[in-house]
Amino acid sequence: MPANKKLLILPGDGIGPEVMNEVRRVIEWMDRRRHVSFDIQEDLVGGAAIDARGMAITPATVERARAVDAVLFGAVGGPQWDSLGFAKRPELAILTLRKELGLFANLRPATVLEPLIGASTLKPEVISGLDLMIVRESTGGIYFGEPRGVDTLPDGSKRGYNTEVYTTHEIERIARVAFDLARKRQRRVCSVEKANVMETGLLWRQTVADLHARDYADVELSHMYADNCAMQLVRNPRQFDVIVSTNLFGDLLSDLASMLTGSLGMLPSATLGVPDSSGRRHALYEPIHGSAPDIAGKGIANPMAQMLSFAMLLRYSFDMEEDAAMIEGACTRVLASGLRTADVMAPGCAKVSTHVMGEAVVRELDKLAA
Ligand code: NAD
Repeated sequence: MPANKKLLILPGDGIGPEVMNEVRRVIEWMDRRRHVSFDIQEDLVGGAAIDARGMAITPATVERARAVDAVLFGAVGGPQWDSLGFAKRPELAILTLRKELGLFANLRPATVLEPLIGASTLKPEVISGLDLMIVRESTGGIYFGEPRGVDTLPDGSKRGYNTEVYTTHEIERIARVAFDLARKRQRRVCSVEKANVMETGLLWRQTVADLHARDYADVELSHMYADNCAMQLVRNPRQFDVIVSTNLFGDLLSDLASMLTGSLGMLPSATLGVPDSSGRRHALYEPIHGSAPDIAGKGIANPMAQMLSFAMLLRYSFDMEEDAAMIEGACTRVLASGLRTADVMAPGCAKVSTHVMGEAVVRELDKLAA
């Protein structure tokens, strides 16, 4: 069987390698049962790479990431590297990959799995069946705009400033990602900015509307101010299908939306680059959570966010919808059977380790594939 799907696995630090081990089992299962073979490379990033090589990610690792079809990232960081300062810290691994691979579109699904409905702070009737996707522009806007800095004024006090900048090109390419995704979902996009108080917001709104009229009239488009969107996400989140927003507002709204679903240990994400002429694009998939140093090494981390990130990888990098849905279905069934890691533990359920959870997912995959 030819190994044609090239993957780079970067487990990182803390619980990263622990949860990645459980994804490896799913990959082995796919090889065995679905006859899908991956050409897998693995490398060090974050604190592990700092300890071994003196930097969070080496140029050679970046080149390996550039050469594969998709990168599956774990998590980086930990207290032992906190004193290294801004220029050497483990998190530079992810920032470097985003920059070098041009990963501009961050996709964060907020899906409520029915067995975990009690884990949300919102009422079940508000979030039952929730399935929304936040598309955040992640390489532009105020986090990168110039000028930026802190100046000292003549009276000795200071003035800090950042600049929100967006070009037509940047807005169009992120809006295209949102519209294309919506076509595979419920065909609804809500574009979010602050056109009432920001010039970039006005440009954003106009550009998205123009693109919609030109190329995506089959998708329903609405516009919303970011502050209202934050309220609506808590009041009635099911009104949304795909939300597209700027780096800053998308950052806040995606964190808000992810917490609608309850637990950090359950949440995957994808970051996509620009497609080339053959349609191939760089892509990186990672759980939302960090390296969780407080529980690292104890074998109790929830592996599902990492497994669901792998499901996203299958869906968005390889168009393997059926396999992606199978992994998601297996995770739901394991939770419905009452097995839980500590972070999603509920009365009447059985608390199990990372490893047992991984085994249970593979068992459910076996049943689903039977
Ligand atoms: P964190 O996400 O690592 O942990 C927050 C809390 O959630 C902790 O109590 C942790 O035990 C729990 N948690 C997280 N993932 C879990 C899982 N899969 N199963 C069970 N419980 C889980 O965030 P933090 O504590 O703020 O950061 C820890 C380190 O991770 C820091 O060094 C930070 O810089 C880094 N970090 C890295 C990334 C990344 O690699 N993309 C993202 C966020 C934070």
